[in-house]
Amino acid sequence: MDRVIRAISADGFVKMTAVELTDAVERARNIHHTLPVVTAALGRTMCAASMMGNALKSEGDSLTVRINGGGPAGTILVVSDNRGNVRGYARNPAVELPLRPDGKLDVGGAVGREGMLTVIRDMGFGEPVSGATQLVSGEIAEDFARYFAESEQIPTACALGVLVDRDQHVLKAGGYIAQLMPGASDAVAERLEAGVKAAGAITNQLMGGTLEDVIGRVLDGFEPEIVKRDKAAYLCPCTRERVLSALAGITESELDEMFREDGKIEVRCRFCDRVYAFTPADKPAILGEK
Ligand SMILES: [Zn+2]
Repeated sequence: MDRVIRAISADGFVKMTAVELTDAVERARNIHHTLPVVTAALGRTMCAASMMGNALKSEGDSLTVRINGGGPAGTILVVSDNRGNVRGYARNPAVELPLRPDGKLDVGGAVGREGMLTVIRDMGFGEPVSGATQLVSGEIAEDFARYFAESEQIPTACALGVLVDRDQHVLKAGGYIAQLMPGASDAVAERLEAGVKAAGAITNQLMGGTLEDVIGRVLDGFEPEIVKRDKAAYLCPCTRERVLSALAGITESELDEMFREDGKIEVRCRFCDRVYAFTPADKPAILGEK
């Protein structure tokens, strides 16, 4: 089951969030027909966005992550709500690249390294708050670690992983973010670093254990307390009404032109597999939105 859990060390100097999104990333693969390297790139981004979204305070808050590294996968865009439910896509889902020399998917090669990681928080009032940093490697976890260090001034250990089976389905997807709070000593930082190293790859950890186990291993010796548990899923809030309002701006003659060609207009949601069809009978509704 996909979920997000949050913990804090007994001394209060380390906060940690861990996520499993195996079902959600498999759902993304089915919606977008991603090939493995893009499944991994999109899935890692979904895991990070889910954990960051889960930290937002209020119902209706949302967080958007955009990565454009100039690689063949194109822009990756993921949106999370304040529970950690996510939706997203990669511009080009059908990218195939040779495996790296170490046998792993070449996520950095698909994402590219020449570009930015942008995070936008929308709290429902005022202007959305955004921060951005240069990509480090396009491998995504490293890129988020830099984002937290530079844009939010929080020393952060970040692990993100998607394990794709031979038949291309998602075996495991998850990750964690462990952050040092102000006042944390060098000894705390070193102990966290040692915990991260000893814990090993996140997908291996999830194959053999729970999110609680992941936190226990990474924060070994910190006596972590779990403070929050949430379910998460691939969730798209699109509706016919939202699509209608997105069509506002089309002129009547453009509309007539579109109807002349097919007799109907089909709008496919970018985030999910829903298709909304409009016929000439919907003309007043479409034009009335303006
Ligand atoms: Zn949708």
